[in-house]
Amino acid sequence: MKALVYQGPGKKDWVEKAKPGIEKPTDVIVRVTKTTICGTDLHILKGDVPAVTEGRTLGHEGVGVVEEVGGAVRNFKKGDAVLISCVTSCGTCPNCKRQLYAHCSDGGWILGHKIDGTQAEYVRIPYGDNSLYPIPEGADEEALVMLSDIMPTGLEIGVQAGRVKPGDTIAIIGAGPVGMSVLLTSQFYSPGRIIMIDMDPARLELAKQFGATDLVQVGTEDAVTRVLEITGGAGVDVAIEAVGIPATFDICQKIVSAGGNIANVGVHGKPVQLHIEELWIRNINISMGLVCTNTTPMLLKTLGSGKVNPGKLVTHRFPLDEILNAYDVFANAAREKAMKVILQA
Ligand code: NAD
Ligand code: ZN
Ligand code: ZN
Repeated sequence: MKALVYQGPGKKDWVEKAKPGIEKPTDVIVRVTKTTICGTDLHILKGDVPAVTEGRTLGHEGVGVVEEVGGAVRNFKKGDAVLISCVTSCGTCPNCKRQLYAHCSDGGWILGHKIDGTQAEYVRIPYGDNSLYPIPEGADEEALVMLSDIMPTGLEIGVQAGRVKPGDTIAIIGAGPVGMSVLLTSQFYSPGRIIMIDMDPARLELAKQFGATDLVQVGTEDAVTRVLEITGGAGVDVAIEAVGIPATFDICQKIVSAGGNIANVGVHGKPVQLHIEELWIRNINISMGLVCTNTTPMLLKTLGSGKVNPGKLVTHRFPLDEILNAYDVFANAAREKAMKVILQA
C-alpha cells in the first residue's frame, strides 16, 4: 500500500509500505477513505516532536471502512463505515474510566505519532471498539473528519474547560482550524459576543461568516487595547488561546476580566510567562490539556441536527496520492487561503 512517511526533520515522502495486519485481538484494520493534515503534522515534520521516528506514517484524523477485525472486537465487522478518533483508548484502565482517554495507559495520542497513522491506504487501529465510532447513515464524511481531532479539541479544551456560559463575552486567539472549531462549538452555549483575534484578514473574514461578532487584526491594531475598548474596559469572561506561542498567552492574561477563565488550547514549544502576581487578585482560572475525544459521541449527534456544520472548514480537496501537493497547500495556508484539506482515497 502507499503511505505518507516521515523521513527525518523537513523530509517526507509518499512511499510503498507493507499493509498493516492484526497484531492484537482488539485491533481493527481500516481502509482509509478520507483523511486530512493537521498543524501537528507540520510540527512533526519540523522535527519538533522527537517521539516520532523516521519511517512513521503520519496522520491521526480520518474516516474509512473496516477491512478486518481481531477476534476480541465486538462493535465492528468488515464493511462497517467508521470515524477514527485521534486518541486510542483501551476503555478499561483507571484513566479511561475517568474519560481521560488521552492518558490511556496503553494508548492516548499514539496514531501518526508512536504508531503508524491515517495518511495511508490502510491503518491499524488498536482497541478498535473504543477508538472508532460507527458513522451514521447519510452523514457528511468531510464534516466527520473534523470530529477526529479539531472539533472535540475546540469543544473540550476551549469551550468546556473555559466554562463558556450563555451571554458571556469570549475572545478566541488564533483563527486556524482549531480556533474555528472553538468558534463553532462555543455557539452550543450561546455566548453573547465572540471576539476573534488573528493577523490573517481572510481567516478573520471567514470567522465572521461562522459567527464571530467582533474581529481584531493583530499587526494593524493592538489586540489588548482593542479588546478592552470592545468590552468597555471590563475584559472578556473567557479568553481562549488557540495558537501556542508566549505572545498570545500573554494577551489572554491581559484581556481576561475579574473572575474569568483562560483556556489554553495551543501546544507550546517554548515556556510562557505566567503572571500569578497579577492574576491572583482578579480570581482568574486557567485550564489546559490534551484533547480526550470524550465529546465525539455528542458531536456526532449534533451533526445530524444541522446546528453546526464543521464541513465548511474544508477549503481544498485532493486525491490521496496527491498528498505531497496537499502538504504544500496546507503549509502555505495564508497564501493559499487554506483551512482544512481533504485527501480522498
Ligand atoms: P494554525 O497554525 O493553523 O492556526 C493558528 C492561527 O494563529 C493562524 O490563523 C495564525 O494566523 C494565528 N496566529 C499566529 N500568530 C498569531 C499572533 N501572534 N496573534 C494572533 N494570531 C496569530 O493552528 P491550528 O491547527 O488551528 O492549531 C492551533 C493550536 O492548537 C496549535 O498550537 C496546535 O498544536 C494546537 N492543538 C492542540 C490540541 C490539544 O489537544 N490541546 C489539539 C490539536 C491542536
Ligand atoms: Zn491534530
Ligand atoms: Zn485506557
